[in-house]
Amino acid sequence: MTDANRLLFERAVRVIPGGVNSPVRAFGSVGGTPYFVERADGPYVWDADGKRYIDYVQSYGPGILGHAHPAVLESIARAASNGTSYGAPTEAEVVLAEMVVDRIAGLESVRFVSSGTEATMSAIRLARGATGRSGIVKFAGCYHGHGDALLAAGGSGVANQGLTGCDGVTAGAVADTIVAPYNVLPDLDDTVAAVIVEPVAANMGLIAPAPGFLEGLRSACDAAGALLVFDEVITGFRLARGGAAERFGVTPDLWCFGKVIGGGLPVGAFGGRWDVMEHLAPLGGVYQGGTLSGNPLAMAAGRTTLELLDDGAFDRLAATTARLATGLADAFTTAGLASVLPRVGSLLGIYFGDVAPSDFDEAKALAENGLYPMVFHALLERGVALAPGAYEAMFPSLAHSDAVVDETAEVAGVAAEAVVADLS
Ligand SMILES: *Cc1c(COP(=O)(O)O)cnc(C)c1O
Repeated sequence: MTDANRLLFERAVRVIPGGVNSPVRAFGSVGGTPYFVERADGPYVWDADGKRYIDYVQSYGPGILGHAHPAVLESIARAASNGTSYGAPTEAEVVLAEMVVDRIAGLESVRFVSSGTEATMSAIRLARGATGRSGIVKFAGCYHGHGDALLAAGGSGVANQGLTGCDGVTAGAVADTIVAPYNVLPDLDDTVAAVIVEPVAANMGLIAPAPGFLEGLRSACDAAGALLVFDEVITGFRLARGGAAERFGVTPDLWCFGKVIGGGLPVGAFGGRWDVMEHLAPLGGVYQGGTLSGNPLAMAAGRTTLELLDDGAFDRLAATTARLATGLADAFTTAGLASVLPRVGSLLGIYFGDVAPSDFDEAKALAENGLYPMVFHALLERGVALAPGAYEAMFPSLAHSDAVVDETAEVAGVAAEAVVADLS
């Protein structure tokens, strides 16, 4: 890493724990020190030394249009000129809520919060309030943000730190959390308020739901009287206009959104059927609120982003991602590096090994085999930025042209040869 980045990191670690405001950014699991981003445009970010990277982090998902899309910037600027936060309702919230209700079949009502974590925390509280039950079933390797009850076996955010759990989370906070293996139908009883799942697991690399898994969860929840919660913080407005629920034809009771829905500003949302949502204050007894919830700048960015995601956008994104997957796989194979790149629409996983994983244990074995950090650094050095953790997915955007994708594959070929040479 070059001087300006290193100097910034030295300053950062003096005043910010680990120098970062979210742990994976610290490069702990890949080694070295992070690059500091000075600006970004489309598929690119530039670091503090002016070095350019083709960026597949894209803020871990929000950057579906690529960075600094002019229409998004313009809508934020226009909103900001009218003031940045009021503590009173605005038309912008109504518009974005109407857009979400319109896009997500079965979702009748939605509430905006400021992060995916808030969305899942609130959805769980709501599910408990609506059912009068306590139990929550989650799946190992699925990440649902950093709320206490959901941190057990949390996938990327936690797994990248080499942590199995989290200090400071009391036994009481997770006493009602049951962790089940992904892609296996859990047994549910009448103590379970909700089953929460990433309909495509995108925080342990990328693992698609096994055929019948999501349908099976739907019937198991119905039989047990539990609510099914889709955490679509990553998949929402990405896998299809109606997200994973549309793509897989399974309708949950509650949805959680984040990332894409904020167009790069802090937004989360949770929503679902009226008979569940009406338990929320001020209609019902489940409290939830937020000073900056429905923030006008964030609503504007979200609205413009969703407007730009027309039907063709999802096909274009999937085609770009397929081209990237093929290009990378060919480059790694040619260099003699075994890789598997599972893809669902515009989500791409990257593992170095022979067989795609189907659950967290298998994902962990691949993520921890030592190859990802080597490939990560070989790519970074050559101007391609992946996430600094083996449990993250890649996020190609609509700004990644075929030329950019092909350049990525070319760089990957050279990087993989360097890794193979280092190994021998
Ligand atoms: C990122 C993520 C979250 C948490 O969202 P934040 O905005 O980081 O709080 C929750 N669920 C999933 C599936 C995520 O990928």
